[in-house]
Amino acid sequence: MKIQENISIKDLNSLRVNQLTRYFCSIETIEECKEAIEFSISKKVPCLFIGEGSNIVFTKDYDGLLIKNNILGKKEQDSRTIEIFSGENWHNFVDWTISNNRYGLENLALIPGTVGAAPIQNIGAYGKEVSSFINEIKTINTITAEERIYAKEDCEFSYRSSVFQNQNNLFITSVIFETSLDADVDISYDSLKDYIKTSAKEVKTLTPKDVFNYVSALRRNVLPDHNKEFNVGSFFKNLTLMEEEFNNLTNIIKVPFYKSNSLYKVPSAFLIERAGWKGKGLDNIRVSNKHSLVLTTTGNLKGKEVIKFANSIVDDIHNKFKVKLEIEPTLI
Ligand SMILES: Cc1cc2nc3c(=O)[nH]c(=O)nc-3n(C[C@H](O)[C@H](O)[C@H](O)COP(=O)(O)OP(=O)(O)OC[C@H]3O[C@@H](n4cnc5c(N)ncnc54)[C@H](O)[C@@H]3O)c2cc1C
Repeated sequence: MKIQENISIKDLNSLRVNQLTRYFCSIETIEECKEAIEFSISKKVPCLFIGEGSNIVFTKDYDGLLIKNNILGKKEQDSRTIEIFSGENWHNFVDWTISNNRYGLENLALIPGTVGAAPIQNIGAYGKEVSSFINEIKTINTITAEERIYAKEDCEFSYRSSVFQNQNNLFITSVIFETSLDADVDISYDSLKDYIKTSAKEVKTLTPKDVFNYVSALRRNVLPDHNKEFNVGSFFKNLTLMEEEFNNLTNIIKVPFYKSNSLYKVPSAFLIERAGWKGKGLDNIRVSNKHSLVLTTTGNLKGKEVIKFANSIVDDIHNKFKVKLEIEPTLI
């Protein structure tokens, strides 16, 4: 395992923020992971794991060991249960499940990133969240070297959140998924349902592979390509408001919402658009004109410029609508 010093991380994060890391290495096995952890302990610096860098913002140079996860592999346990090593690409895994008669993940097609990062913010799209398909998560503690298996109940999954968030001392080595043998599909999410209705295919004949293809095509339509217009997907979370906060907001502006239990979910994109930000910004960073939750960069900027721009949106939305947007990606 080779350790490099003072290298640029521009090609390791999908916003293409240009910062340095003090040390860098890439790992392909659990043994290399342990070696990397020992190196960081011997140098008395922190370590940070990175997958495909599609949900992380480096706000400054990283003064530690950045560890790129390339640990690959699958272990089939039975026809429904499978262990996937954390460096595998998420979309390729979803594609593989459908080709191998393991169903349920098709609504989560084309989300960038690795399998190991998927539980961290409990990735979700088109009415599904990854947590619904997770049985267990295997981890290594980077301080104590202790290996621990988290049962689903211990993961504290909720909207774009889990127990693993902001815990840089836990490395997810593999995830054990339970998928379905049943090829029923769920297209109840409005924008997916509307998109599929415009196609020639009869809804009642849809297969999981069809849904996988429709979700992929829909995502290509509505999101900027992060390899060309650099971005981390949604930069802000949708709002989850208590009744009083929701009433205060609707006194200012009528908003679309979805009520779940006693909480109101409001699309932040709606407010960002109403505040006039869609397609607007600076030379090197702007709000996408395809999707108002996405900030795109030219790849020619520092992390602090990203944060300054994001904060100007947060402040403007607060001034106009008295609600506070929360940033979705991990800030380092
Ligand atoms: C165009 C685009 C569209 C997107 N659409 C969606 C969407 O629809 N829904 C959604 O939920 N997300 C979406 N995202 C966000 C992103 O794809 C997911 O959060 C993804 O899971 C990040 O994976 P990654 O490997 O790139 O993680 P990274 O960005 O590399 O890491 C993210 C965080 O996880 C930590 N981490 C990574 N791997 C491990 C590990 N093995 N163990 C411990 N910690 C680890 C990192 O330290 C960091 O804190 C989108 C992003 C883009 C660019």
